[in-house]
Amino acid sequence: MAGKTVDVVEMGDSSGNGMIVKIKLSSGRKIFAFATKNIYGGNWNLGPTWNYLITGDRLFLLDTGRRGSGPSLMEMISLAGFSAPELDCVILSHGHEDHDGGLSYVADRTGAKISAHEIYQYLIKPYPGKAPSPEKQNFPASCWRCPMPESFVRENCRDYHRERMGLAINGIEGPEYELSEAIKLFHTPGHSPDALTVVVDNEALLPGDTILPDITPHPTQERFYDLTKTILPEKYAKAQQIYGLQAYLRSIKEIKKLGRKFPGLLLLPGHRLFFEDRWQFVELESRVQDLFEHHIERCESIKRALKDGPRTAEEIAQQCFEQRLLEGYGMNLAINEVLSHLELMERSGDVVATSNMKFATKNSANFEPFIRSIMEQG
Ligand SMILES: [Zn+2]
Ligand SMILES: [Zn+2]
Repeated sequence: MAGKTVDVVEMGDSSGNGMIVKIKLSSGRKIFAFATKNIYGGNWNLGPTWNYLITGDRLFLLDTGRRGSGPSLMEMISLAGFSAPELDCVILSHGHEDHDGGLSYVADRTGAKISAHEIYQYLIKPYPGKAPSPEKQNFPASCWRCPMPESFVRENCRDYHRERMGLAINGIEGPEYELSEAIKLFHTPGHSPDALTVVVDNEALLPGDTILPDITPHPTQERFYDLTKTILPEKYAKAQQIYGLQAYLRSIKEIKKLGRKFPGLLLLPGHRLFFEDRWQFVELESRVQDLFEHHIERCESIKRALKDGPRTAEEIAQQCFEQRLLEGYGMNLAINEVLSHLELMERSGDVVATSNMKFATKNSANFEPFIRSIMEQG
């Protein structure tokens, strides 16, 4: 935090909802952080989405909160002393609804350009004829794997998707991209295939949901790629480039390297900057290390869950997660988490898929050196 200051402009509730924070970098640049409310509650509560306004000759906004956040976000921007037409560009950290839900509202009101990873451009469009089932024909590719029931989709998603499909996106390509003199973007897939990490003045690191304090971000599964490969450019030729736990671990290792290159990077995450009445500032390198250890431990707990014979992902989730985390939609999240680890354990030779959607352990623990070798690469 050397040379940087953090001031509360507007106090929010104990989770940070409604809070406005002003961060001043030693370069003199100010970044405003705006916390917009999420609906997702229960035991997997992420807290509000933290959206960031990067000031300077041009104004950049990173993320726009969930759908319906647009008006309160615009109000927060004006409370920070800026007006709508001043906003030059909205950067999207990744295409999850709690980050791009307000995007079309903000873009409409401000005329700002939108910069997102090019994969996002492909995922927000429908592809009639390529969708996996008839009821998904009019839904964008990002929803082809969605496990939510029809009633939920009708109520929460239809308008959101319609708005998103119409957005004009400046698609960012390559592992690294200079958006302005101050702002560098890095492609850090894994939590989402289109995830970007933003570095400002080599002083602040804004990783969206790729690195969070306090909670471990969900990796995607490599098998999601089976469907989207037909619509993505050929350069994304392998699932593990952009999906799954392996891609995720590689991305956070790259972020750790950025931390070595620019010591003292201030981590400004997509959730939990402030939560339960306290700041959650964490040191980047030790947080990345903790995330690696978490995933090794998760593989160990899966191995233990399989010691008495083959199990399904749901049965493994029952053993690896506390009951409160498995209630309602939580079970889907837990199964996703288990499956992403099983994919890695299949590759490291520790697990095999058996019949009836079950998995069996080979009683080895190659996953540990496998994961540690990702951590130590380059
Ligand atoms: Zn996310
Ligand atoms: Zn999020």
